[in-house]
Parts: sequence; C-alpha cells; structure tokens
Amino acid sequence: MAVDGGNMAQAVIDTAYNERKRLHTGRSRTVAVVLFGLLIALGFFLALVVGKADPNTPPTCDGKTMTRHSECRIWSSRGGGGTYSYDEMIDRRESGNGVWRVVGFGGAGVAAVLMVVSIAKLNPNRPWGQPVGAACPRCRELNLREKHTVHSVTRGRTTHRYSGIVTLCTPACGFSAIRQR
Ligand SMILES: [Zn+2]
Repeated sequence: MAVDGGNMAQAVIDTAYNERKRLHTGRSRTVAVVLFGLLIALGFFLALVVGKADPNTPPTCDGKTMTRHSECRIWSSRGGGGTYSYDEMIDRRESGNGVWRVVGFGGAGVAAVLMVVSIAKLNPNRPWGQPVGAACPRCRELNLREKHTVHSVTRGRTTHRYSGIVTLCTPACGFSAIRQR
C-alpha cells in the first residue's frame, strides 16, 4: 500500500496534540481511575461474594441441600470424582472459594497499584513530553517539548503503526514538527 508520507506525518502530530489535550484536561486520568476502580470492585466482588468463606451452610449435592449423614457421588471425566461426605463437600466448596479469594484480592491489588501509577503518570499538571533545549523557530521562546508518538491505523485485520518524535510548542504558538528517531 502506498503511504502518503506527508499525511501520515500530520496524523502522528495530530495524535500528539490529542494526547497532550487528554493529559492536560485530566480526561486520561479520569478514564484510568474509572477503569481500575471497576476492576478493584470486581476483584472484591469475586473475593467477598463469589469466594465467601461459608463453612457453616450445608453443602449441596447436584443442586440438593445435603444433610449431615448424606453422601454425594460425583462422576467426573476429568478426575476428582468419587463419593464425598457432608464435611468433604464443605471442604471442596471452601477450597474452590479460596481460589476465588486469591484471584479476587490478587486482581484488586494489581489494579490498585496500576491505578496509583496511572494517577501519578497522568497528572494534568505534568507537562507533556520532554523539554527540548532549543528555542522555538516560530516564537523564539524555550517552550518546545518532544515525545515519541505512535499513530495506529487499523484496516481490516492489519494495524499500521506510524511513529516519530513529535515536537510541539505551546498551543498559543502552534509550532509543530516531527522527525524520525
Ligand atoms: Zn513556539
């Protein structure tokens, strides 16, 4: 496919503009906090509701509540079949619940760490990119900052990635440039 180099360079610059805007309005951070907040809630739900420790409720066998003296026969083609007593069925249930607690609390912990990292990284007061030690050719001020930026275009199953180091001046000046690494 023929690629129009000029248009793609402008597309990468536009991507950088959009990233800077989302960073400074705090939108990126809001999205990250909501997303990780939902994952933390899901983790707690799995750990505390799905994986709730419940050693006193009678176990069920094939959907029927067991009594103290009943047995449960489980057929399984994957192993783990057999005949289980009331207490053994409670143990089976509790070990299954334990797995959900590990998954739930583990997932919530990872999401919490990622949330803290993204709050710091996506701080709206944090400037976009790295400072450039040269004056802007348009406004002559030392306001230039640069960042490696990727613009992805998906056509069907193929994703094309165009990237470059984008240099931006302040929005008031509007100067932009792109170069390859
Ligand atoms: Zn400038």
